[in-house]
Amino acid sequence: MSGPAFARPVLTPFCRLDELGLVVTGRRLGPDRAALACEVDKPTDWCRRCGCQGPPRDSVTRRLAHEPFGWRPTTPLLTIRRYRRTGCGHVWRQDTSHAAEPKAELSRRGLGWALEAIVVRHLTVARIAEAPAVAWSTANDAVLAEGKRVLINDPARSDGVKVMGIDQHVWRHTRKGGKYVTVIIDLTAIRDGTGPSRLTDAALLTVKPKIHLDELFANEDHLPVEPPSQRDGLSSVLR
Ligand SMILES: [Zn+2]
Repeated sequence: MSGPAFARPVLTPFCRLDELGLVVTGRRLGPDRAALACEVDKPTDWCRRCGCQGPPRDSVTRRLAHEPFGWRPTTPLLTIRRYRRTGCGHVWRQDTSHAAEPKAELSRRGLGWALEAIVVRHLTVARIAEAPAVAWSTANDAVLAEGKRVLINDPARSDGVKVMGIDQHVWRHTRKGGKYVTVIIDLTAIRDGTGPSRLTDAALLTVKPKIHLDELFANEDHLPVEPPSQRDGLSSVLR
């Protein structure tokens, strides 16, 4: 048989939970939801106050929404150990910052999935919220915050862009808030056959923008987002 060998069918890497510092210890499959019992892969048993090791005291659980597999929402249910150092009395819990932001409902992988779904695959926020089984506003707020954090706040996002795509589509079908989104996508790696497209900018608008491509470069103020400069070696713009 040719090709790489098959590894054991382990759920943790299949569900990309190893990337979040989690280990799957059990599963409960329902017709419309899969729950995965998870533990945090590393102990966090050193007290930050006094630097001594503390014994586990008890545990708490935390439910996260994750990327779906198939059409079925996948919900990791984390068991998080709590420790107590008797010497100083400090109580703390295992570090889950790899898995999700503090108090976030979506895992970091779930967020990455949602962002790609909306920008690259053009899914609606309603459809995106349905997949990890969260509220519409939870998905909307999380995707906007994550998009800003990983994509738009990166000052080097336009470096090396040679082929750019501009896309405008309806973000939401209600009256409230930004209704249209304009995105700028770096297609250089697609043209060169070296990798996937990459979002470099996005903006929410309440009115449908009317921008002709020629106008865009005649006056960049027309675009609500900043396109990469032609000086940087941009060779084509597609939409
Ligand atoms: Zn201590």
